[in-house]
Amino acid sequence: MTRRFDVVVIGGGPAGYVAAIRCAQLGMNTACIDQWRDRQGRSALGGTCLNSGCIPSKALLESSEIYDQARNSFAMHGVKCGGVALDLQAMMARKDKVVATLTQGIAGLFKSHKVTWVKGHARLLPRKQVEVHEYGGAGTGQLIEAESIILAPGSVSAEMGAAPLHGDVIVDSTGALEFSEVPARLGIIGAGVIGLELGSVWRRLGSEVVLLEAQSEFLTMTDTQIAGEALRQFTAQGLDIRLGARVLGCQVTESKVELAYQDRGGDHRETVDKLIVAVGRRPNTRDLFVPEAELLLDEWGVIHVDEHCRTNIPGVYAIGDVVRGPMLAHKGSEEGVMVAERIAGQQTSINYDTVPSVIYTLPEIAWVGKSEQALRAAGNDCRVGIFPFSASGRALASGSTAGMVKVIADAATDRVLGVHMIGPHCSELIAQAVIAMQFSASSEDLAMTMFAHPTLSEAFHEAALAVDGRPIHIARTGRR
Ligand code: FAD
Ligand code: NAD
Repeated sequence: MTRRFDVVVIGGGPAGYVAAIRCAQLGMNTACIDQWRDRQGRSALGGTCLNSGCIPSKALLESSEIYDQARNSFAMHGVKCGGVALDLQAMMARKDKVVATLTQGIAGLFKSHKVTWVKGHARLLPRKQVEVHEYGGAGTGQLIEAESIILAPGSVSAEMGAAPLHGDVIVDSTGALEFSEVPARLGIIGAGVIGLELGSVWRRLGSEVVLLEAQSEFLTMTDTQIAGEALRQFTAQGLDIRLGARVLGCQVTESKVELAYQDRGGDHRETVDKLIVAVGRRPNTRDLFVPEAELLLDEWGVIHVDEHCRTNIPGVYAIGDVVRGPMLAHKGSEEGVMVAERIAGQQTSINYDTVPSVIYTLPEIAWVGKSEQALRAAGNDCRVGIFPFSASGRALASGSTAGMVKVIADAATDRVLGVHMIGPHCSELIAQAVIAMQFSASSEDLAMTMFAHPTLSEAFHEAALAVDGRPIHIARTGRR
């Protein structure tokens, strides 16, 4: 028997589950099909983000930071605590509990919005039909038909021929969130977002961490000045970041990994106890559709969509990591809302120029909009204001003075084109820049806005003042 819905969503990650809830809010009879199962074999909503991405990584970042502070920073505040010890099992159990609370929360939201949760693997067929196989099911599955179909199958870790995964010794990000003990020496291939966040976790917990990064420049996605400061800070924390390193191969011997890599200095070898492969993620389109469905993908497996996430098949949409743009949970969720509202006949759009990015290291790195180097390379004349956290009273009071805020404005119109920052709580501060840019603010608009004292936000205010050469809390050098 064929089941019928107004909307079927394939994938229950932050793109898919948000789309499903919004569709239901708009009165559509909605089903969400998801194949995720946790380590115990239980079905779980939330996709990569809740189960093995954003949430567990942030739980461990928080716990490891507290441990590190107790060992290294409390004394600076006059707090003495001897005998600080790590209980990794308890830390992992807490992380698992946070994940379970949130994934069960999504199941509760589905129930309250009357979204039907179908557990199993879905494949798109022609004529807006979907075939669902329960776990491991072979043969003909259950058939579902819908007026509109939203594809949100997410992404999976990219593999590397030179470093194939091997049990719990060579792992991807999921394995790196599950180590049962702190590796004495940890290798990471890729000094991108995952490499830096998970490298920070294990470094704080006691590992020696070596990151091998293929590119000769560090963190090319953010502003060069911010990236330079980040490299200095991470190196000072003991992260051994080796740029321009090309891994040639690795061998597992007696639970250790021997790596061979090459850089400008020649051939090198490195032995580590665990190796994390963190070289990016690829769209999860494997077995998502039958060829007769004629869904258009590019050569990387990215589903082709227009600015409103419409695929080449009328009535079929794709959102989240499986389409163009940054692989970020909030970008996927906003696409989910947009598509749901468009199906309901509304004219919702997304401003892709104001998608914020955050790297949850210490200090945190966050940005929105264009970097100075990207603007100059494109021939845009811009003015820049920078304010260091070392001149912020609040940062000094809390003992976190590393970093800066950089505001970049168009030289002719003064419109803010980008804000890049590294420092304390930048994951929260960046929202102010997103709001400013969403409302097309100028740096003068920000300069004229009042900020509470003493707050870290004042650094954003001062950086905006600095665009016009008039920050209050920076000593004047030379003539204006
Ligand atoms: P996913 O979350 O991958 O969900 C897709 C779901 O669809 C999965 O449950 C999958 O099992 C299911 N599925 C796939 N194919 C089928 C099928 N054929 N049938 C049925 N079900 C299917 N992003 C941030 O914004 N902030 C962060 O802090 C952050 N941290 C991260 C940390 C790590 C370690 C990782 C790996 C990623 C992190 N990300 C972060 C990225 C974020 O997880 C993704 O951008 C986000 O999960 C993408 O959402 P999605 O809904 O498109 O896909
Ligand atoms: P990434 O693109 O951030 O970093 C991958 C790094 O690996 C790059 O620096 C790349 O140059 C390097 N690399 C690629 N091939 C290599 C090779 N053969 N040898 C050595 N280095 C190599 O990807 P990621 O860190 O794997 O994260 C995947 C995605 O997940 C990101 O795009 C991001 O969008 C998302 N994510 C986001 C967050 C966050 O928002 N805080 C956290 C984790 C993951």
